[in-house]
Amino acid sequence: DPVLDAAFFLRWLAAATEVMDREGDRLTELDSAIGDADHGINMRRGFNAASDAVAKEPPDTPGGVLVGVGRQLISKVGGASGPLYGTALRRAGKSLGDADHVTPEQLRDALLTAVDAVSELGGAAPGDKTMLDAMVPSVQAYGAALDSGAGLTQALAAAAAAADEGAAATIPLQARKGRASYLGERSIGHQDPGATSIALLIDAFARTAKG
Ligand code: ADP
Ligand code: MG
Ligand code: MG
Repeated sequence: DPVLDAAFFLRWLAAATEVMDREGDRLTELDSAIGDADHGINMRRGFNAASDAVAKEPPDTPGGVLVGVGRQLISKVGGASGPLYGTALRRAGKSLGDADHVTPEQLRDALLTAVDAVSELGGAAPGDKTMLDAMVPSVQAYGAALDSGAGLTQALAAAAAAADEGAAATIPLQARKGRASYLGERSIGHQDPGATSIALLIDAFARTAKG
């Protein structure tokens, strides 16, 4: 398993930026069904800004990378997802402190911190058809894998699979938070864009670990 150092998180950021460039149109399409057709645009802008900022001044700790990405998302992306994603990453990064590498268990705690940040800021619960519907099962699967003796790479693969399933499971749900909730029952039958982008980001973590 690779070491969770700053270089690992920088490789994740590169993979995440690349996937937002590649899948942004699909995210925007999902958002056009139940939102305002900008989720892919938002994520693309935010991650490209984060990559640029980090290239200018590369952080030398995992916490520094996540805080830096969070800050860019907050300042460059408006709407719901910028503050939610940004605050989640910033708080997750802060929870890692200034250690030059972190353990898989510390990463779990950081992910839990991210879940708490989104819940607190957005007031959503699992089942409300938001990004939390991918985050919560993903963090649970990651923790359960570690508890049963899996290493980082295997645990992140489990997290990615669970995030994917969680995103797909938003299709039959009615949205209770965010713009999609304005549609009431008409939000049923569409996959949530934010849950989908979470699944892409966790998959980028899993691919980074696999190398
Ligand atoms: P906006 O809705 O402001 O245009 P985006 O389109 O970028 O922002 O992001 C929409 C996504 O944000 C939704 O698909 C949902 O996953 C997430 N979201 C919206 N409101 C909330 C909330 N209150 N809690 C958690 N996630 C939310
Ligand atoms: Mg939108
Ligand atoms: Mg918008």
